[in-house]
Amino acid sequence: MTTPAYRCDVAVVGCGPTGAVLAKLLALSGVSVVVLDRAADLYPLPRAVHFDDECMRVFQTVGISDALRERVRVNPGMRFVAPDGRCLLDWPRPAEITPQGWHASYRLHQPDLEQLLRATLDRDPAVDLLTAHRVDGLVSSDDGVVLHAVDEATGTPTRVAARYAVGCDGARSTVRSALGLEYTDLGFTERWLVIDLLLTRERPDLGDHTLQFCNPEQPATYCRNPGTRRRWEFRLNTDDDEATETETARIWARLAPWLAPHEAEIERRAVYTFRSAVTKAWRRGRVLLAGDAAHLTPPFMGQGMCAGIRDAANLAWKVASCMENGDDPAHLDSYAAERGPHVRAYIDTAARLGNLVSTVDPTQAQTLATAGTATMASLSRRLGGVSAEAHDRVGTLAPQPTLADGIRLDDAVGYRHALLTRHRLVDATTPAGVVPFDGETHPGVAACLDALGVDTLSVRPDRYIDAVYWGGPD
Ligand SMILES: Cc1cc2nc3c(=O)[nH]c(=O)nc-3n(C[C@H](O)[C@H](O)[C@H](O)COP(=O)(O)OP(=O)(O)OC[C@H]3O[C@@H](n4cnc5c(N)ncnc54)[C@H](O)[C@@H]3O)c2cc1C
Repeated sequence: MTTPAYRCDVAVVGCGPTGAVLAKLLALSGVSVVVLDRAADLYPLPRAVHFDDECMRVFQTVGISDALRERVRVNPGMRFVAPDGRCLLDWPRPAEITPQGWHASYRLHQPDLEQLLRATLDRDPAVDLLTAHRVDGLVSSDDGVVLHAVDEATGTPTRVAARYAVGCDGARSTVRSALGLEYTDLGFTERWLVIDLLLTRERPDLGDHTLQFCNPEQPATYCRNPGTRRRWEFRLNTDDDEATETETARIWARLAPWLAPHEAEIERRAVYTFRSAVTKAWRRGRVLLAGDAAHLTPPFMGQGMCAGIRDAANLAWKVASCMENGDDPAHLDSYAAERGPHVRAYIDTAARLGNLVSTVDPTQAQTLATAGTATMASLSRRLGGVSAEAHDRVGTLAPQPTLADGIRLDDAVGYRHALLTRHRLVDATTPAGVVPFDGETHPGVAACLDALGVDTLSVRPDRYIDAVYWGGPD
């Protein structure tokens, strides 16, 4: 056997949003990473246009939020409208900053995000990013994983040896196939045409809300994206021919109710099959799955990529802990136990919203609405696997207060554990890697504890609360 060309702690297959965020979080945890992506460049076709405050917090942790906020747009919400203009369901997103320290909902151009993530990986000495390297197999043993890859430019085979590997290689994951794992199909399958346009003249009348045009004959979506970018999506029939549907004249005919050809340029077009699915297992030995490789979410609530970002934030510190303290299968399995039910709640809601777009049935809208009104609230799910006896805030996201010196909590903590206490810790010492903040020094911390009605809060690197205490942490 030839010697591997690369050795690292963790090999990440795929440098989409999930793989890139995971690699950076691992690097921040002191872990050496090799990332391989078969593509030479960023994915060119239209995909994510939305993310939420939880994901912005992760982007803050990986150091790109300041640059990203310049390129995104705060999203006022989404409305589901019937052909006669009636609003069947309103999902307003608050304009205020949420307890997460960011806006609830942003619109983005996915390549902007991926560019920033790649740049941060390029600057990180703990990360080797190998683009145009296709992984086509792996061998996993008790000691480690060896990935077999091919340099797409030269055809040269190469091998990467690691303690762990994570497949972030998207819906057609080679890693998932190599592990012999399939998706469980959760039942939603629809073909949609997606068109990104650049306006060439102002069209404020199109509005800033995302609009879901509920119509059994022709369900469609409009998205107000950053800058001059706008998106329309149209459901296709199963027998519609892709080449015909993506012809320029045919696209303009579909867009005619909203836009004329002299008002915009077509930037990108693609036909996708939107699916709901989840992997039958998230880990086999030293190999794990994350992002689209592990689950597929129909895009009606803009949460597929967000789920991958959450996977990365949940997993990186657990793998890093195994690197530092020795293998801990139970710790690694908490990843699937926590993420599985969480992502499933988003997938199921997204599929129900997708079904709503294909109907004008107000009863369906009512079942998605909150408190009997035609308004929907955002999901705020608890992690799976939390004990029934736990305080109701355990397994939910911790708020992000601003500290006395004006710095936000996460910037001071980094990707580490934090302990928020009401009083200054005098004699007690916190374990290594746990950063303490007290309410006497930081009024924002005291306010946050007041709001939750607790005295001490233990927060994990992914910002989820793992314990609350009254009267101090001892
Ligand atoms: C039309 C549309 C709209 C969407 N809108 C939203 C939205 O608004 N919000 C949202 O959160 N999500 C949205 N999504 C979903 C989102 O785009 C995906 O969930 C997200 O891109 C998944 O990220 P990922 O990193 O897991 O996988 P990917 O982005 O698919 O990245 C996988 C990477 O792995 C690489 N790769 C694959 N195989 C190999 C191999 N064998 N070896 C090496 N590298 C490999 C690929 O080149 C790729 O770079 C949308 C999707 C679509 C199609």
